[in-house]
Amino acid sequence: MYNIKTASIDITYRCNLRCKHCFNFSGVPRKQEMTDEELRNLAKDLSKLNIDSICLCGGETLYRYELVCEISSIIKKNSPQTLVNIVTNGILLTKEKAMRLKSSGIHMVQISLDGFTDESYDAVRQSNGCLSKVFEGIINAKESGLEVSIATLPHKKSLNEFEKIIDYCHDNALYELRAQPLMPLGRGKENYMELALSSEEYEELKNIFKKKDFELKNKSSRTEINWGDPVDHYFMLQEVEYLPFLTINAYGEIEITPYLPFTIWDLKEEGLPEFIEKRIPEKVLVHPLIKKYISRVYSIEDMYYPDKELPRMYLEDNLNLMREIEEMKV
Ligand code: SF4
Repeated sequence: MYNIKTASIDITYRCNLRCKHCFNFSGVPRKQEMTDEELRNLAKDLSKLNIDSICLCGGETLYRYELVCEISSIIKKNSPQTLVNIVTNGILLTKEKAMRLKSSGIHMVQISLDGFTDESYDAVRQSNGCLSKVFEGIINAKESGLEVSIATLPHKKSLNEFEKIIDYCHDNALYELRAQPLMPLGRGKENYMELALSSEEYEELKNIFKKKDFELKNKSSRTEINWGDPVDHYFMLQEVEYLPFLTINAYGEIEITPYLPFTIWDLKEEGLPEFIEKRIPEKVLVHPLIKKYISRVYSIEDMYYPDKELPRMYLEDNLNLMREIEEMKV
């Protein structure tokens, strides 16, 4: 049995925003997403794998809010030790919804905060003044007893707001501030030049984080500052013997990573138990095409591949390698 540590499921690609950095083009679902019944069955199968944590992602997960609660309850009932987290932009997170999420067993809510003023937030999120709703959502989550992680994408207009953002997390005793660089994927590619920080600006940000981290430690703050570099994900895939995480898109396809358009298993054709029985987590890492695309990434810019090379991720169908991988002799 493999020790699958984490799983992420995209619940939907519908979204109330059209962020300029959205790597999966959320807001415009392309085809039929998994049905409620398929997602319930997937939750049952996942809960048999003894997974440490499962993240429900999107799109805007709260568009399928009732189902999110149901999925969490199924997982927690069958596998109480698994942490279930969700990602949301926070705009729809009312007090009532936050309390229901908590009572259905959700552990942590990751809420995106890409700026501290309407101007900087809307520069990326194109939300037309929704920032106050996000702050309300954060407080609703916190007051309902959910752990709150703030996800942020540093960009040119938010760079000088980081001291305030970190202080805000500390003042509200939030669990973490997690920053991730802009990726040249999806709408993030289209808007890369406008939004991405220069290397000097990243250096400046690093110094702000260092200074604030020191301050938070001195105050024994419960807020952690974390830097999530998606490139580490590629390095890890080069080092492991089998795939230790599951990435499942809203169409029911297991992908090698959310950043490459390869389907390694289609749950609409065969289930998760067969994925494990047929040793796909091992085989997938030696597939030549997958190896090629995993090993070429050393920096954020390398994550971009020219559109003519592979299907355009989240706009066209993934390359389905399921049967090829299944037949590999490993
Ligand atoms: S980044 Fe998040 S909130 Fe923005 S469009 Fe994508 S899924 Fe929606």
